[in-house]
Amino acid sequence: MIANRSRVFGRTLAMPLKRAPIMRAPIRAPVRSYATGPVAGAETPVAGKKSALRTLGKWTWRAALYGTLLGAGYISYSLYRESNPSKQKPQSDHFANGSKRKTIIILGSGWGSISLLKNLDTNIYNVIVVSPRNYFLFTPLLPSTPVGRVELKSIIEPVRYIARRTTGEVLYYEAEATDIDPVTKTVKVKSNSQKNDYELDLNYDYLVVGVGAQPTTFGIPGVYENSSFLKEISDAQEIRIKIMRNIEKAASLAPNDEERKRLLSFVVVGGGPTGVEFAAELRDYVDQDLQKWMPELSKEIKITLVEALPNILNMFDKKLVNYAQDLFRQEKIDLRLKTMVKKVDSTKITAKCEESTESIPYGVLVWATGNAPRDVCKGLMDKLPEKQNSKRGLLINSKMQLLGAEDSIFAVGDCTFYPGLFPTAQVAHQEGEYLAKVFKKLHKVDQFEYMASKNNQTNENISDLTNKINNLKAQIEDFQYNHHGALAYIGSEQAIADLAVGEAKYRLAGSFTFLFWKYAYLAMCLSFKNRILVAMDWTKAYFLGRDTSA
Ligand code: FAD
Ligand code: NAD
Repeated sequence: MIANRSRVFGRTLAMPLKRAPIMRAPIRAPVRSYATGPVAGAETPVAGKKSALRTLGKWTWRAALYGTLLGAGYISYSLYRESNPSKQKPQSDHFANGSKRKTIIILGSGWGSISLLKNLDTNIYNVIVVSPRNYFLFTPLLPSTPVGRVELKSIIEPVRYIARRTTGEVLYYEAEATDIDPVTKTVKVKSNSQKNDYELDLNYDYLVVGVGAQPTTFGIPGVYENSSFLKEISDAQEIRIKIMRNIEKAASLAPNDEERKRLLSFVVVGGGPTGVEFAAELRDYVDQDLQKWMPELSKEIKITLVEALPNILNMFDKKLVNYAQDLFRQEKIDLRLKTMVKKVDSTKITAKCEESTESIPYGVLVWATGNAPRDVCKGLMDKLPEKQNSKRGLLINSKMQLLGAEDSIFAVGDCTFYPGLFPTAQVAHQEGEYLAKVFKKLHKVDQFEYMASKNNQTNENISDLTNKINNLKAQIEDFQYNHHGALAYIGSEQAIADLAVGEAKYRLAGSFTFLFWKYAYLAMCLSFKNRILVAMDWTKAYFLGRDTSA
């Protein structure tokens, strides 16, 4: 049998080489059928259909081939461009016409600041970026990292790379802004590296504050000491280590030991999207991976989500919220709604639920109850007490100008508070893009002002330049936020989407929405390298399981 099969196989392979003209004959079948008379009438439509199908097949195949080649070419070119930036124009004090080149200092390397940097014309300003975090972090996929569905390195992009890809030179200080003086237009920065500590005073013409926010604890005692936040890479690493340690420690105890039960109780406080997505990822890890390697222990793991309000995910449509809550109950995530945490000890949280007070023991506690302003912003607000009187963030106007320092300070993203704008990546990203356009217009205004200030101008010229300046200033429109919708992963390969396309609203939930979620986040990744790494991580986790080595 084996010999036979290999003979046939061998002949098939040899044929096209030796008898190529005969092999082509079937393609001409319709022509031959005309020549054979009566049969032709019966066979022509079938043959014609076949030939049409074959042509369609051929073109589809070609289209797929060319599409793949084009796609591969585009990806290769993009990767090449990303990793081989072209030469940058150096910074300078003045332009060729003698006018001063202004300095923009951008604080932060998050969604708002990096979106501005990517879109800013760095040939017309001296741009300085100051951020203690030397990379951009793609936060939407951060909840997938503690349990190893996505690797941390796949969702970051170094600031130096982003800065190097702009057309004009950009300076970067890996440092924290500690104080902003709106009168002298100075920022005090302090490096946070242990070896090369330095402090500097940097002068700016324009300052963009994009320092984000810090996790809020609402002053609840014990939160800082005992829980982990989920905002930075270091938080994700800390959570992973705590989970893995607890699992190993619990494995060394007898099955009915109370301590084992506590160690395997994972509690998430805050039913916003951060808490929900993390609880969902954790449940997936336990059900899809851990149960293969530690089947008995995995059954003992308890995941609890504590939320003060009657529902989780309050920014989503009610139907989607119910869908998510039902799935959580099915997946055995213990939902504690209307339960407000009041105190955190090293082994338990104390919460108020309606009229009663309860104690919930935990082994790992993740705290995700939203944002609070950073110290540098509080310091800035204190310097402008008449205009900055909100506890929620820097107050800005509709042009992103800081109230009280409109001529020189702008603020974007989570560090700001403006009614109707939520602290999301989507908002911060659009604000960054908007500011880049504003700075382009401000540069033109500066140029006309410089011309008008020259001694050799006639009155007519000055009035013409003044008109131009006023027109340009009037052209700086208010920021218009374009809400595309909200997405959240809810576990078991399901997601919810509250989408807005123009005036229309679409609400989706389920496995197909999860594919859309994946597609949307891949498209949003900052670089092609990130896209490829994230796609590879998902594939790896699907086929080989999550890598949770701590
Ligand atoms: P950030 O992105 O937080 O960046 C702040 C930057 O400022 C950082 O680089 C920081 O190091 C730097 N910085 C801090 N202090 C200083 C200082 N003193 N001086 C200089 N620099 C400083 N939003 C969505 O729209 N969709 C999502 O799916 C989504 N998922 C999220 C998941 C998680 C886990 C989290 C935590 C948030 C998520 N968000 C999401 C919200 C989104 O990440 C934020 O709204 C967004 O990051 C805000 O951007 P930002 O630029 O204001 O601040
Ligand atoms: P959040 O502010 O959206 O939610 C925090 C939740 O914690 C609230 O529901 C609040 O009621 C609850 N809470 C507060 N104090 C509590 C207490 N003592 N006990 C129990 N519950 C308490 O916070 P977040 O999830 O960290 O999100 C922060 C921002 O980032 C939001 O604007 C959010 O939209 C955005 N984000 C978006 C996504 C997404 O679009 N997929 C994902 C993550 C974060």
